[in-house]
Amino acid sequence: MSDTDLAPIREAVRALCAGFPGEYWRKLDRERAYPGEFVKALTEAGFLAALIPEEYGGSGLTMTAAAAIMEEIHAAGCNGAACHAQMYTMGTLLRHGSAEQKQRWLPGIAKGELRLQAFGVTEPTSGTDTLSLRTTAVRDGNSTYVVSGQKLWTSRAEHSDLMLLLARTTPREQAKKRTEGLSVFVVDMRTVKGLTIRPIRTMMNHATTEVFFDNMQVPAENLIGEEGQGFRYILAGMNAERILIASECIGDAKWFVEKASAYAKERVLFGRPIGQNQGVQFPIARAYMQMRGAELMVREAAALYESGKDCGAEANMAKQLAAEASWAAADMCLQTHGGFGFAEEFDIERKFRETRLYTVAPISTNLVLSYIAEHVLGLPRSY
Ligand SMILES: Cc1cc2nc3c(=O)[nH]c(=O)nc-3n(C[C@H](O)[C@H](O)[C@H](O)COP(=O)(O)OP(=O)(O)OC[C@H]3O[C@@H](n4cnc5c(N)ncnc54)[C@H](O)[C@@H]3O)c2cc1C
Repeated sequence: MSDTDLAPIREAVRALCAGFPGEYWRKLDRERAYPGEFVKALTEAGFLAALIPEEYGGSGLTMTAAAAIMEEIHAAGCNGAACHAQMYTMGTLLRHGSAEQKQRWLPGIAKGELRLQAFGVTEPTSGTDTLSLRTTAVRDGNSTYVVSGQKLWTSRAEHSDLMLLLARTTPREQAKKRTEGLSVFVVDMRTVKGLTIRPIRTMMNHATTEVFFDNMQVPAENLIGEEGQGFRYILAGMNAERILIASECIGDAKWFVEKASAYAKERVLFGRPIGQNQGVQFPIARAYMQMRGAELMVREAAALYESGKDCGAEANMAKQLAAEASWAAADMCLQTHGGFGFAEEFDIERKFRETRLYTVAPISTNLVLSYIAEHVLGLPRSY
């Protein structure tokens, strides 16, 4: 989609976000409360169903359009982390689910009646080393899998009806290939027994949790695709996640640059605006350039994704460059504001804490660098 085609979408997101100003986010941040009204407004406007095809009731938009939606949310000072997974988690179901599964869940997800926002991959002992995860799903007869184990950092589990869960169905030593033996399930958290969710308080308001499975029974009909192939299915979905989160970082960086530029023009010291000093204006200009460079990589990754081409390297680079750009812009914005940057009412310290996450999650810097070193540059695998 061209910039002209995207303009009305961007304007509509901006208009919606105008109803959720800094005070709204500050109050939630203090209480670590979920932005339910904001998520409801985005859902009702159809933005979270952007990537669901029209035949299932979604808007059937491109990745470029979805990325523009997330970017605008963040550029307006809001935070999409409360619901961004509703956009991309369904991709695994869309690409690998059966016709019956898609009919069962996708129309409800598109309408917002069903929230699929919980993504259970990370565990306490495996972390980034996903293939070592220990949660097991053991087949019990024809109709059920019994799930035991624990997930960590399962964000939005308390605000989701369904969870996309990755669990081991074949012991690692018996799997034919290193990447086989893991399977993906849709868990209906409204009805399932043996599931415990515990919230984790973090440095920013993120609704994240740890989740325990105690002989949790999941119907076999909720297995997505072929048993043992789940890692492959999840990886494809992760590219979408990286592109969308990269777009959020671009939005954050734009917000920080705009705030800093405005303040540098209006704050007068020693008889002139602070922005007249090169020591103040150069860091703002640098943050802007860094953001624009990262933005180009996000656009390239989104274009590759929507043309169906492999975009693993570009999605990783986009996420990394955008996360570095937003963090650099956050630091610059705080510095530009001097002491006022630390005051809650300026929203800078909140956005600063929020954007810091993205060089760690959904994948941390070193792992992106390892990916590029190995898969793009042909260097030996380091782990
Ligand atoms: C707020 C928040 C929300 C999250 N939401 C979700 C979610 O919804 N669902 C989900 O499944 N996960 C979620 N995560 C988990 C997130 O994806 C992981 O935190 C992230 O992938 C890093 O894993 P880890 O924390 O286990 O770090 P570890 O894997 O323990 O790594 C620790 C450090 O060591 C480095 N490291 C590890 N191995 C190597 C190596 N071989 N070479 C060089 N460096 C290495 C890493 O880069 C990192 O800096 C969330 C995390 C947070 C903090």
